[in-house]
Amino acid sequence: MKRIEKHTIGMGDRFTRQGEAQLAAVCQARREGIDVFPVWNKSNREHTIVGSHPDSLRAEADAAVAALGWKHAYYVDADHIGLATVDRFLAASDFFTIDVADAIGKPAAADRQAAALKALGPSLGAVDVPGLPGGLRIDFSTAEQTVGKFLPAVEEAGRIYRHIAAKRRDEDFVTEVSMDETDAAQTPEQLFVILKLLADEGIPLQTIAPKFTGRFNKGVDYVGDLARFEQEFAADLCVLAFARDRFGLPDTLKLSVHSGSDKFSLYPVIRKLLRQHQAGVHVKTAGTTWLEEVIGLAESDGEALALAKEIYAQALDHYDDLTGPYATVIDIDKRRLPTAADVAGWSAERYVSALRHVPSCPEYNPHFRQLLHVAFKIAAKKGQRYFDALERHAAVVNRNVTENLLDRHIRPIFG
Ligand SMILES: [Zn+2]
Repeated sequence: MKRIEKHTIGMGDRFTRQGEAQLAAVCQARREGIDVFPVWNKSNREHTIVGSHPDSLRAEADAAVAALGWKHAYYVDADHIGLATVDRFLAASDFFTIDVADAIGKPAAADRQAAALKALGPSLGAVDVPGLPGGLRIDFSTAEQTVGKFLPAVEEAGRIYRHIAAKRRDEDFVTEVSMDETDAAQTPEQLFVILKLLADEGIPLQTIAPKFTGRFNKGVDYVGDLARFEQEFAADLCVLAFARDRFGLPDTLKLSVHSGSDKFSLYPVIRKLLRQHQAGVHVKTAGTTWLEEVIGLAESDGEALALAKEIYAQALDHYDDLTGPYATVIDIDKRRLPTAADVAGWSAERYVSALRHVPSCPEYNPHFRQLLHVAFKIAAKKGQRYFDALERHAAVVNRNVTENLLDRHIRPIFG
């Protein structure tokens, strides 16, 4: 088993052009004494939309590491894979995010449910969890319901894990299980039971992505009850630390936050709790690096700005097609979207200030930003023309990518 470090940051990059600019942010953080390690992640959904192969992400990571002389750990994450999609990720990845959200709530065999409940027996009742005021109370009906709901997902995770382990002989990878892309947030009590089930399934779990309370829309800030999130996140940290020892899970086990990027209002909360609990975390950001590319193009003015405007106009034309696959993780109010004609008249500065995520900026428009975030398919279709523009304006684009990752994510979470 490859042991993951305490603090890791997941970085998405739709077009695999920004590996060096992303790693530059991590290198700078390191010079500032921030111990964080990079994970390049890309899901099957994004590979499919862009038409790329997982090997390209490995090539990007290795090239960035070689170019900047990074001497430390780094990972390539097969993000949100299942049995049907994992095979083409096997060679390139050393971090697997096993997504079993779809199996939650499927029927489980009665005998296996009964066996799982029996194994949970000694952990039922009042559980004294260090650091958690009042501890946990796992009564029999909670246990029964939780086992009934999550056992099929855990068994599916086991099948996928064993499939990966059989194909990667030395088992030199990190295993994450994700349950975030589902309707209901998991309570700390459910998390406790789920960890027991995963341990009994024999999965060397190092990161787990529960669904947290509130909305984690792509590329924009958190929408939800901050106090409730804080309470839940603190409880999850306590449960993880406790379950790790009690159930014999790897001592590297930590939470994975599928942030969807830019959860600025959560970062101070996460940072404070990590310190209080001396806990590690993996924070995945989504592929907002692609938005920094568009910002860099817009900032460069001239034909590059024209290209950025053209991408937006076409995104409006293909609204349903682009937003469909992301329906559950975006909240766009169409009435707040500028028209193509509005945007055609914008200056470079106006375009950049609408798109760049600076909440205090009066021109910042989260609807415009969310639509562009899911519009990378438009740029993918432009192909070489888009890549040539990135190449021509590489200095501005790279600066935006690096600054965004460092100033708006790494420093606020880990600094
Ligand atoms: Zn996720």
